[in-house]
Amino acid sequence: MTSVAVEAFAMPAAAIRHDWSRVEIRALFELPFPELMFRAQSLHRAYFEPTEVQISTLLSIKTGGCPEDCAYCPQSAHYETGVKAEKLMSLDTVLEEARAARDAGASRFCMGAAWREPKHRDLDKVCAMVEGVRALGLETCATLGMLTAKQARQLKAAGLDYYNHNLDTSPEFYGEIISTRTYQERLDTLGHVRDAGIHVCCGGIVGMGEAREDRVGMIAALANLPVHPESVPINMLVKVEGTPLARGGGLDPLEFVRTIAVARITMPRSVVRLSAGREDMSEETQALCFLAGANSIFYGPKLLTTPNSDTDRDMRLLDKLGMVPMR
Ligand code: SF4
Repeated sequence: MTSVAVEAFAMPAAAIRHDWSRVEIRALFELPFPELMFRAQSLHRAYFEPTEVQISTLLSIKTGGCPEDCAYCPQSAHYETGVKAEKLMSLDTVLEEARAARDAGASRFCMGAAWREPKHRDLDKVCAMVEGVRALGLETCATLGMLTAKQARQLKAAGLDYYNHNLDTSPEFYGEIISTRTYQERLDTLGHVRDAGIHVCCGGIVGMGEAREDRVGMIAALANLPVHPESVPINMLVKVEGTPLARGGGLDPLEFVRTIAVARITMPRSVVRLSAGREDMSEETQALCFLAGANSIFYGPKLLTTPNSDTDRDMRLLDKLGMVPMR
């Protein structure tokens, strides 16, 4: 479909709300599927070109040995997962990877480090990486754990565009997943990032054995932030041997699509990202997610330490759907 034809179907924008009640969000989840999809698509078209997908690449710049105990994470030092603790990557290696990502069509380059929070000397090194990646013409994103207000300002001064820090799940289910940092600490970091003028990337993970009510609670927490995150990654749990979540959990793909649609409706101006778990999704599920309002994907062979969808397969799928990378 050409962009001219798409514009003909553009819908009026809705007011951006930050007062979503759980009753309202639950009611969205319970809508008949065609009705939910129609509402999500209508809002998607009001704010975005529906054929465009923003493409990000994620590089793990410091892998493994993390002192946190996130139950889904193979990088936690609490679990035997076979992921080796490595040192922070060199600037040259990061820039080489960023150049390759840019040449493969990525517009944003995310750098992830398995830290509880960055140490002073490490932050200086990450700031140099941010400056270098930006000089290549890419948007920059980092996920480094908790930040103080001062650290957030330092990253902003280096030119960081986005900071990722997820809420992961509902406040009620959170204690089942992580014990080494609180929900409030996450909210505090998000506040520091926002106050520093860095765009926020914040979402969560589903399929961890949570109830639908927890997905409702997670979307409510995200949609009622003082400013909606500019990016909302919705991850499907990737079960990794050795982690507490290696068994059980899982989610019906249509419930995953519903979660995407509800995120789109409640945060219509945000980019909604299909993140971890895409490797195991059928093309049909991914296509439904795009119809539900997802408009960003991670692209590249590895998503931190779990396999990501094969890049050729991604491009073939976008081609089949007549969709194009967002510029
Ligand atoms: S998700 Fe992040 S903070 Fe949690 S264990 Fe993994 S690397 Fe550490």
